Amino acid sequence: MKTLEERILKDGNVIGQNILKVDSFLTHQVDYQLMKEIGQVLAEGYANQGITKVVTIEASGIAPAVYVAESLGVPMIFGKKHKNITMTEDILTAEVYSFTKQVTSTVSIAGKFLSPEDKVLIIDDFLANGQAAMGLAQIIKQAGAQVVGVGIVIEKSFQTGRQLLIDNGLKVTSLARIDRFENGQIIFGAADL
Ligand code: 5GP
Repeated sequence: MKTLEERILKDGNVIGQNILKVDSFLTHQVDYQLMKEIGQVLAEGYANQGITKVVTIEASGIAPAVYVAESLGVPMIFGKKHKNITMTEDILTAEVYSFTKQVTSTVSIAGKFLSPEDKVLIIDDFLANGQAAMGLAQIIKQAGAQVVGVGIVIEKSFQTGRQLLIDNGLKVTSLARIDRFENGQIIFGAADL
């Protein structure tokens, strides 16, 4: 997605060997116009596939996921990373290691929001080693629902996530694919959409 790549080049900052900071439009401050466009493009990629739910993980997946859900006309559910005393009904969980926070957390979704009839599109802001998406896929499968695909805003192709998801039978669609960082420069590969 050309406008996304241009925005990453304009406002993204490379931190160390493998982190991209995009807090001015995606992970902290949110550019809703860009999110809306991202939502439309990802939704078009999964049009006519009978998607009934969009699932993401808090916090930075929520903004793009809301707009994908709006475009597809289906609800969006986000996995919660912290236990909440209001979540009393049957809870589906998975352990997820966070690449950026370097801690493992139990991600939860209330069972009442997913059913065996659901066809789910997973959305996340980044794909690094695939732990977040794998955890969400586990939760969705616990509910007996089907994962139709994983839609990613920014994939770092030099990390292992895409291969892990493919090895687990999941289709991956990324709007921007970063091939490598070279002396602080961002080098893109061919994106899926
Ligand atoms: P994974 O689970 O695929 O290893 O990592 C994906 C998750 O880690 C995303 O939900 C995102 O929050 C975070 N993440 C991974 N890489 C980056 C990065 O380069 N920049 C930022 N801001 N977040 C990242």
